[in-house]
Amino acid sequence: MRPLNDVISACPPSGIRRFFDIASEMDDVISLGVGEPDFVTPWRVREAGIYALEHGYTTYTSNAGLPELRQLICEGLKQRYGADYSWQDECLITTGVSEGLDLTLRVLLNPGDEVIVPEPCYVAYEPCVAFAGGTPVRVATRWEDGFAIDPAAIEGAITPRTKAVLLGSPANPTGAVQPREALEGLVRLAEEHDLYLVSDEIYDRLTYVGTHTCLGALPGARERTVVLGGFSKAQAMTGWRVGWICAPQPVAELAVRVHQYTMLCAPHISQLAAVEALAHADDEVTAMVADYDRRRRVFVKGLRETGLECPEPQGAFYAFPSIRSSGLDSETFAEKLLHAEHVAVVPGSVFGPSGEGHVRCSYATALPLLEEALVRIDRFLRSL
Ligand code: PLP
Repeated sequence: MRPLNDVISACPPSGIRRFFDIASEMDDVISLGVGEPDFVTPWRVREAGIYALEHGYTTYTSNAGLPELRQLICEGLKQRYGADYSWQDECLITTGVSEGLDLTLRVLLNPGDEVIVPEPCYVAYEPCVAFAGGTPVRVATRWEDGFAIDPAAIEGAITPRTKAVLLGSPANPTGAVQPREALEGLVRLAEEHDLYLVSDEIYDRLTYVGTHTCLGALPGARERTVVLGGFSKAQAMTGWRVGWICAPQPVAELAVRVHQYTMLCAPHISQLAAVEALAHADDEVTAMVADYDRRRRVFVKGLRETGLECPEPQGAFYAFPSIRSSGLDSETFAEKLLHAEHVAVVPGSVFGPSGEGHVRCSYATALPLLEEALVRIDRFLRSL
């Protein structure tokens, strides 16, 4: 047989999936493993999906996506964060942030271009850079600094081949929200070295401490910043597969061009449901965010009571405690915890070398289950 694609075959299977697969074969597992809301999509949004089906909205939409949805997205970015992207020329609807990320990197990168990726980071960032022909360049962030990016460290990684910096805030897996000053420093660097910034803001609404800064709203950022957003997390719409890209016009135009040859459009029914989510489901989103916040407080307090050090997660729905005091590496910790107490967490090492010494626990899980998980984690730690 002829060889398959080297880049793809060199990519390891997702470390998250591996644990998920083991856990799914076991009984009585409390999964803190997957980054998925445990809420069902708000009813009025599901109803909009049903209405769309009943009325036969089962066709393609335009490649860029429904105008109404793009308008709502751009208005929302303007009102909430002061970011100014034109819905006609600078916004397109994607099948989730996952496609938005892939499209953006394919549009930005030529073979061999480097993309700086502060880590620990979402597992798809480095593979997607590589799939687009680029080379990811890791820059470590430290939990002692709340995983804030350090513009000086990023500057130290810049070479003549650096094309972009890719980051997420609020962040998966750390729950860190990047401070505005750090982002301003990043924008200055981008201006000095003529770099693009790719900002994954899928968790923007899930910010509990401080306020979310949209990177594209910072002075000097707009012309070089691609903002990615979606509906999977705050609106509990993972299975609907809707996201968006807001980008300066030349980037957005090329992204639509690639999209028209690949995905064509995001599902029509899902786009109509997303319109409803933005137009009328704010109260439901606010209620879910308040619930995550309650769980966050209980869970982080409980983790600290077990003796684990846990930096306060400020956004998303992950706690990222240090497990160094256990004397185990993160993979062994997760494996032993799963087998001994049937609690699934994700080893921090799957998110990059700086994630070692931590495990990721999703608190998008009902409070009674979180409380039971805390009892089991405590028992596990005492058994070591
Ligand atoms: N970006 C981050 C940081 C994520 O955590 C996830 C999902 O876990 C995604 C993107 C993928 O989102 P979507 O469902 O919109 O493709």
